[in-house]
Amino acid sequence: MAGGEPAGRGAISRRGALGGAVAGAAGIAATRVDPAGAKPPKGPGRKRSRDVVVVGAGLAGLAAARSIREAGRSVVVLEARDRVGGRTLNHPIGHREVVEIGGQWVGPGQTRVLEMIDDLGIETFDTYVEGKSVYYRNGSRSEYEGIIPPVAGPVLVEILTAINDMNAKAATVPVDAPWNAPEAEDWDGQTLKTYLDGLGLSAEARMVVELGITSVFAVEPRDVSMLFVLLYIAMAGADFNNLINTTGGAQERRIVGGSQLISLKLAKRLGNAVRLEQPVGLIRRTRTGVSVRTPSGTWPAKRAIVTVPPALMGGIDFKPPLPANRAQFDQRMPMGTVVKCMAFYDAPFWREAGLNGMTTSDQGPVRLTYDNSPPDGRPGVLLGFIEGQDARDLAGATDQERKAAVVECFARYFGSEAESRMTGYVEKSWAADPWSRGCYGGITPPGAITGYPGVIRRPFGRIHWAGTESATQWGGYMDGAIQSGQRAAAEVLAKL
Ligand SMILES: Cc1cc2nc3c(=O)[nH]c(=O)nc-3n(C[C@H](O)[C@H](O)[C@H](O)COP(=O)(O)OP(=O)(O)OC[C@H]3O[C@@H](n4cnc5c(N)ncnc54)[C@H](O)[C@@H]3O)c2cc1C
Repeated sequence: MAGGEPAGRGAISRRGALGGAVAGAAGIAATRVDPAGAKPPKGPGRKRSRDVVVVGAGLAGLAAARSIREAGRSVVVLEARDRVGGRTLNHPIGHREVVEIGGQWVGPGQTRVLEMIDDLGIETFDTYVEGKSVYYRNGSRSEYEGIIPPVAGPVLVEILTAINDMNAKAATVPVDAPWNAPEAEDWDGQTLKTYLDGLGLSAEARMVVELGITSVFAVEPRDVSMLFVLLYIAMAGADFNNLINTTGGAQERRIVGGSQLISLKLAKRLGNAVRLEQPVGLIRRTRTGVSVRTPSGTWPAKRAIVTVPPALMGGIDFKPPLPANRAQFDQRMPMGTVVKCMAFYDAPFWREAGLNGMTTSDQGPVRLTYDNSPPDGRPGVLLGFIEGQDARDLAGATDQERKAAVVECFARYFGSEAESRMTGYVEKSWAADPWSRGCYGGITPPGAITGYPGVIRRPFGRIHWAGTESATQWGGYMDGAIQSGQRAAAEVLAKL
């Protein structure tokens, strides 16, 4: 399914109101809403004005809409795609099971997403970690227990020293005003690469640290501001391990029914307030509020919350135009590059060999793998990420070429059975998706945080900003998306 939406998901017409369309997108019977022949409203209808119009039905937009509705205010959510969930997307794999081809894990400290999950009656389960992990370096494969790959003592010391140094620096970065960090100018004046160069790490320590960081940002060390890296760590509790760990970290738990279920349930509660296939092309300031244009009409409201990532903001025309600094900041937050790939098996055969499905490798294109099987282990699912330059290098490859490269990696780490027993395969290139253009989130190159302080959350008249890129806790994650939506809703409600 490279580069597009999963096969079989396009069958339901989704223009207009939510109806059964959103649930159909996920293939989850429990959340299916049957429109029962009701004629879905196609457009705004008789210029009905709402208190708030929200652009984007990802977690940020839906969380914002929920808060606004709970405060007794009227809201409409306009979503460009034919589904809700944004960067979360379930993929049905039969027997009422799903895998996620977008965001999936939650972990300790992510209080907002965990509360939301609880509120919606959704359950979580532990990521599979029983057994040994695979380490692949310089063409040689080994197995190990625990979190850190089996490197020699001095290399381990180097890795831990680098992590401790980043953590100590991150602890000085204010999450809501990183430009005020004591050494903000210096850190925002260099890339992560420059910083790592300065540490003088051995080749192996450098590879492990870089791999950990690429797995978080999906860019190369040369691409990202050191201050942005430190901000990310600060937003995750000032401990880099919280970002990269499975147990005790951001990859600890998975969501029964898939992470898109959160959005599906939120959207179901919002009913007709969620409108699909409504790409917003114009947001105009009016005498009394805002007027938002989609192909099916104009949606007037007192205020707007825009949740699209900064990298996509250029696709929306603003009248009057965005202030210079906002427009320039949006030019400075590109998305990371990820292809999320999964191979299916009748059973997770690697478990029989005492393996937990996790790999750390210095050879791409897949350098990190996980066991992504459903809770009962049927079917077995191997998950691999192609990230950063590896993903860019394969962007022009055919689906078959990319799949062959991925399966070759799986076989390298888990033996020939990874190829011979494979029953299916799915992948999604998020950079190829016009409504995301990359993931996991936006990053900033040097100069953007200190050059445009505060711009990302500063309202423009009656237009407010949300989206995980604007979060101050767990930015880039589902938790950050929800936090940003709730924050923007509070901002708007205070003004209504
Ligand atoms: C492969 C992958 C793996 C990830 N892994 C994890 C993980 O394990 N854990 C985790 O917490 N996070 C993970 N993430 C990140 C997480 O999914 C995102 O941080 C989160 O979903 C972002 O939510 P959002 O609402 O801020 O943005 P989005 O989900 O991007 O929502 C924005 C919405 O706006 C819509 N839109 C865009 N332009 C317009 C327009 N002009 N008009 C109308 N609508 C528009 C989009 O279609 C989209 O629905 C992952 C993401 C990906 C893609």
